[in-house]
Amino acid sequence: MSSISVQNLHASINGQEIIRGLDIEFSQGEVHAIMGPNGSGKSTLAKVMAGHPDYEVTAGDILLDGESVLEMEPDERARKGLFMAFQYPIEIPGVSNANFLRAALQARLPEGEELDATDFYHRLYEKMDLLEMRREFTARAVNEGFSGGEKKRNEILQLAILEPAFAVLDETDSGLDIDALKIVANGVNKLRGPKLGVLLITHYQRLLNYIVPDFVHVMHAGKIVRSGGKELALELESKGYDWLKQDDNEAASLASPAVLTK
Ligand code: ADP
Ligand code: MG
Repeated sequence: MSSISVQNLHASINGQEIIRGLDIEFSQGEVHAIMGPNGSGKSTLAKVMAGHPDYEVTAGDILLDGESVLEMEPDERARKGLFMAFQYPIEIPGVSNANFLRAALQARLPEGEELDATDFYHRLYEKMDLLEMRREFTARAVNEGFSGGEKKRNEILQLAILEPAFAVLDETDSGLDIDALKIVANGVNKLRGPKLGVLLITHYQRLLNYIVPDFVHVMHAGKIVRSGGKELALELESKGYDWLKQDDNEAASLASPAVLTK
C-alpha cells in the first residue's frame, strides 16, 4: 500500500510564503478532506504537490512511499501515480478529449508498448457512462466551451481513465449545481476503493454529504490546524470558520507586550 507524507512543508510564490509548515499523511484506500477558508493555501498545496513551477519549496518534503518527489517533474509525479484535478481546469483548443486521454494513457506505458485503440474506446465509454457523459464529449476539444459542471466532470473522467494511486481534487464541487454535484460525487464514490487515496479539497461541507471522508483536516494560514473524523466537517458547518480568526487574535494578543507584562 502506497502512502504520501507531507512533512513541515513551506512553499512560496514570488517570495511570499503561502504554505507555512504543513504536515499531512494519507494512504491508498483513504479519503481525506481538507477544508478551510478562502486564501488559506489549499489550491497552493495542490499545485505544489503537482510540481507547479511557479512555486518554490523552501523547507520540508513531500514523500511518496518514502521517496521525495520535489525534484521530479510533474509528468514524472503523474507516472508515479499522482493525479491532480484543478480548481480551474484549463482548456486545450485543438486537442480532442479522446486524443488527450489516449495520449495521457499512452505516456504511462513502457517504451515501445502501444495502447490498443479498441480497448481504449471500450474503457473510455465505460467511464463516460459511469459519469453520465454524452459520447459527443470525446470529439470536443478538452474543456473548450464546457460549462463549469462539464469541466469538473471531465476532470473526474480523467481520474477514472488514468486510475492513479492518489488523486488530489481541488474544489471539484465549485460551480456545480446539485444534480452535477451528485453525479461527480457518485463518480468519485464508484472509484473509491483500496487502490485509490483521495485528498478532497473543499471550502463547503456540502460535498462531504455525498463523498463521506474518512478524515477531515482544517487548513488555515498555510497549515493544518485541526484534524479529525468526518464529524469535524459537520462541526465546521455549524461553527463556520470564524473561530480560526479568534485563534489568530488570541495568538496575536498572547504575543503582545501588554498581555505578557500583565
Ligand atoms: P485557497 O485555495 O485556500 O483559497 P490559495 O492557495 O488559492 O488559497 O491562495 C492562498 C494565498 O496565496 C492567497 O492569499 C493568495 O492571494 C496567495 N496567492 C496565490 N497565488 C498567488 C500568486 N500567484 N502570487 C501571489 N500570491 C498568490
Ligand atoms: Mg482554492
